[in-house]
Amino acid sequence: MRRLLLAPHPDDAVWSCGGMLRQWCREGGLTVVTVFDGDGREEGVDGRGDRGREGREEDGAPALRRAEDAAALARWPLRAVGLGLPEAALRRDGAGRSLYAGPLALRRAPHPADAALTVRLAGLLGPLVEDHDEVLLPLAVRTHADHLLVREAAELALGSRADGAPRPVRTRYYREFPYAPPPPPGGYREHAEPADFSDWLRGALMYESQVRGMFRDARPFARVLARRTGAPRRCTWTSWVRDAA
Ligand SMILES: [Zn+2]
Repeated sequence: MRRLLLAPHPDDAVWSCGGMLRQWCREGGLTVVTVFDGDGREEGVDGRGDRGREGREEDGAPALRRAEDAAALARWPLRAVGLGLPEAALRRDGAGRSLYAGPLALRRAPHPADAALTVRLAGLLGPLVEDHDEVLLPLAVRTHADHLLVREAAELALGSRADGAPRPVRTRYYREFPYAPPPPPGGYREHAEPADFSDWLRGALMYESQVRGMFRDARPFARVLARRTGAPRRCTWTSWVRDAA
């Protein structure tokens, strides 16, 4: 089983699915695609061709987050791909105005101007989807506009081959951490699988800037991750599969 894990931002793959990555690497291989890891200068759309710049803090938050992502993902024998698109907070309209001025509140819908980006992203994801048996997407119910955009673009890519036939790929939706998306409204089956908590936590703590910014330090982070996953007693990873129509 070759899996493709779509992460809207650096940290989403490891924070949301970190306890499964080793197993997935063993079971046939894993590609992690991080979509919104760009600087907002539209230079890296074809991938991270400029890894040499990573880790230079003066390049700003995107560069630091890319560096943390690269270091964390290197814990597992997976293939990491960055699409270099700018995250919502960095996106601007034709007149240079921010598309998402103010805080990016939960439940915020994607800006209408992002419709073109959804189609463009679907085009980038199409060839990546081809080589895989299962695609893992954020559930994106009441989480972040970028998560919904990734889900919609991926669904577009999965349903639209040049010959019009849907791609023969299994789709699974994962629960995003630290968001606590509610269970989907119906028409989905929930799966809880045993996951490796210590591997999950170790990888997740490598996103130091995010741990500091959102949880202050490692201890509260570990507490929330444990609570959410049922660790240490029985750590599980939760996902949903749509019922066949
Ligand atoms: Zn995210």
